[in-house]
Amino acid sequence: MGVITMNRNVVTFHYTLRDPQGRLLDTSAGGRPVSYLEGAGQIIDGLDEALRGVAAGVKQTVNVPAAKAYGHHDPEQVQRVLKALLPVEGELQPGDQFRAGEDQFAPIVRVVEVDGDEVLLDANHPLAGVDLVFDVEVVAVRAATEEEMAHGHAHQGDGGCCGGGDGDCKDGGCGCKG
Ligand SMILES: [Zn+2]
Repeated sequence: MGVITMNRNVVTFHYTLRDPQGRLLDTSAGGRPVSYLEGAGQIIDGLDEALRGVAAGVKQTVNVPAAKAYGHHDPEQVQRVLKALLPVEGELQPGDQFRAGEDQFAPIVRVVEVDGDEVLLDANHPLAGVDLVFDVEVVAVRAATEEEMAHGHAHQGDGGCCGGGDGDCKDGGCGCKG
């Protein structure tokens, strides 16, 4: 754990994510593959660990227990509150999501149940407590550049700063001056 290696890779992969019942949760098929710097926390731990040392072209199924994905479901994050206290206009339906406060870092909460004047809210990540099944196809593996290691994330293309134009530098606001 926490081993610092000088040679880390940037891995690019396509994935299809399902729950243990086989329901489709997410997929990169038909879109851009995902690139990440190994061990940088860009993807969930369980997948990062499972893909260490995998070569380009490999397809595999990776099972990630909830503890190594989005964590366990915390019952204390589920609370009954008065609808009148919520920063929401109009009717609420089970499944609705909204930010629990004014500022942009307030947690996203989900409506579990509406009961008269009260609403049961769940602030857990929607995938908390869910074991994940990834079908992964590794598209490319290359050595990370010094710049990527310094920034702690993958860059597009050959790893040059902001080389892709719409890559991580812009999205993640790493502020690199290429
Ligand atoms: Zn960067």
